[in-house]
Amino acid sequence: MIFISKLVLYFLLWTLWSYTIHVIAHIPHKKNVLNKIHLAHHRYHYEESMWPPWHDFFFWFGGWKETLDVWITFTIPIIVLIFFDPLYGVILLIFHYFYEIFLSRNVLDHNPNIKSKITNLIPIGVFHMKHHKYYQCNYSFYITLWDYLFRTNDKKMMERRRQRKLQKKKTV
Ligand SMILES: [Zn+2]
Ligand SMILES: [Zn+2]
Repeated sequence: MIFISKLVLYFLLWTLWSYTIHVIAHIPHKKNVLNKIHLAHHRYHYEESMWPPWHDFFFWFGGWKETLDVWITFTIPIIVLIFFDPLYGVILLIFHYFYEIFLSRNVLDHNPNIKSKITNLIPIGVFHMKHHKYYQCNYSFYITLWDYLFRTNDKKMMERRRQRKLQKKKTV
């Protein structure tokens, strides 16, 4: 029981970290290095093939920006965890490695054909594609919890935009 609870706790902390880094990475500022790095992800075009390029297996994602983006957002916190609690760190690392190589590309995260209710829980398919469309919503990875908790999911963002428009109309 303790094993499962600790694993869930570390998983939540890890996803909170990646969510936070992703939110910061979307703050446009000339001194925001994370922003410059992360924009490479938004420029990336996935080919038809679902098989990853060979360099992904070595955790090199085609350029230093793309690579640093993944390392800062996901890999480094796991390496830190391995020093403190190796068993859980290694479990997360194995999960992260396989997800990043085989699933994160156009299989799950960037697959617009995944539209079912599962996207309310796991930020894949249309949920993540809306992040690519609007930039200011749906920052979560692996679990949508943080977007709902911090009200950054696409529905809340649309609501805020609508209210802002209404307020503008009132002041004119
Ligand atoms: Zn992004
Ligand atoms: Zn993406």
